Amino acid sequence: MALIVQKYGGSSVADAEAMKRVAARVAETHEAGHRVVVVVSAMGDTTDDLLDTAAEITSHAPDREMDILLSAGERISMALLSMAVNALGVPAQAYTGAQAGIRTDSHYGRAQIVGMVPERIARAVRDGQVAIVAGFQGVSEHEDVTTLGRGGSDTTAVALAAALHADVCEIYTDVDGLFSADPRIVPKAHRLRTLTQEETLELAAHGAKILHLRAVEFARRYGVPLHVRSSFSEKNGTWISDSPANPELTGMVPAAALADSQEEPMEQPVVSGIAHDRSQDKITVTNIPNLPGKAARVFEICAEVGANIDMIVQNIPVTDPTRANITFTLPEGDAKRVLDALEAARDEIQFQDLRYNPNIGKLSLIGAGMRTNPGVSAKLFGALSEAGINIDLISTSEIRISVVTRLDDLDRAVAAVHTAFGLDATETEAVVYGGTGR
Ligand code: ASP
Ligand code: MG
Repeated sequence: MALIVQKYGGSSVADAEAMKRVAARVAETHEAGHRVVVVVSAMGDTTDDLLDTAAEITSHAPDREMDILLSAGERISMALLSMAVNALGVPAQAYTGAQAGIRTDSHYGRAQIVGMVPERIARAVRDGQVAIVAGFQGVSEHEDVTTLGRGGSDTTAVALAAALHADVCEIYTDVDGLFSADPRIVPKAHRLRTLTQEETLELAAHGAKILHLRAVEFARRYGVPLHVRSSFSEKNGTWISDSPANPELTGMVPAAALADSQEEPMEQPVVSGIAHDRSQDKITVTNIPNLPGKAARVFEICAEVGANIDMIVQNIPVTDPTRANITFTLPEGDAKRVLDALEAARDEIQFQDLRYNPNIGKLSLIGAGMRTNPGVSAKLFGALSEAGINIDLISTSEIRISVVTRLDDLDRAVAAVHTAFGLDATETEAVVYGGTGR
């Protein structure tokens, strides 16, 4: 008997039919003798619809009221799913985030979990009930409803799995797991059978949209094994664990899945996957006096307006070493604030120009095997040059290389690099069942 946390995304509970299918799956897991905790997202596009309706009423909705509103989407799901499970003769009860003991700080819209006291959930499953928890929400110390940020139901699920010492946290979505690249760009992307938590963190942090970044951080910190899979098929998905052999040893992988895995090579590839990101912009501050403290001022100003800087490159022209150009990338939503704040500091910093380019894309190649294998950058740059794609900026970590290209070149770049690293599947494998990837 295992304790299993199952999280179902919005596309898996989009309508009554889908709810019933999920309920059957939950009931099946319960009847197999496991203790089951379910976390649900809002149905389909409910969260977006709620945001649109609020925007029709006011462009200045108070943050607190917005969180109460958005938390309603998940509450509808939890109640309906609980009814569907009960209708199958399996006892289930629904719980809000507050009832499930998810305590957060008061940062509405992006609350952080500060404590987990899931007593009622633990008691319910001990008593043989299925506990169904509304994702994406918690309660602040002032007893106000908070939400955890878009995609936050993943984090609810992993946090509950950690607090309840669950054997596995299953993340159900509408694709068969994590892929070596976005199947919408690379139809030959293949499903990743296993991935380390570190690789998953890099993928999620650099644009792969399948998992909430904080959920991955939680899973890593508390050693929660994740299994990302489709609620539309019985197929084995992607196991995320820092000891990839572990899920098989614990008997959590069904025999059929092990048979399927034998078709795949045993040796770990150097590169596991490619993430891409279209959501960043680039700013260059030109001709800054090349003096101590000037770069610090530029980034202090970025920090003061709350911008999250990603890549940074400084170059000093050979023709005039008294001056420097600093280029950096940042989320597109932060660009206007940074440009205005830097413009206001023009006389103080004494730069010449601000150049702004919103049309950039970032490709990130990720693989734990990079640590021990030379030649990865050479191969990456070779593949891009063969495809005639110019590289603008480069940054690296121990297990990642990211390059910035023109936005128009990004899709082609991802496909070319995917092929160059031998990641193409022999046949098209990726199926998006529900259509949203959530
Ligand atoms: N319903 C929320 C959203 O759409 C949370 C989630 O689905 O994880 O972002
Ligand atoms: Mg999601």
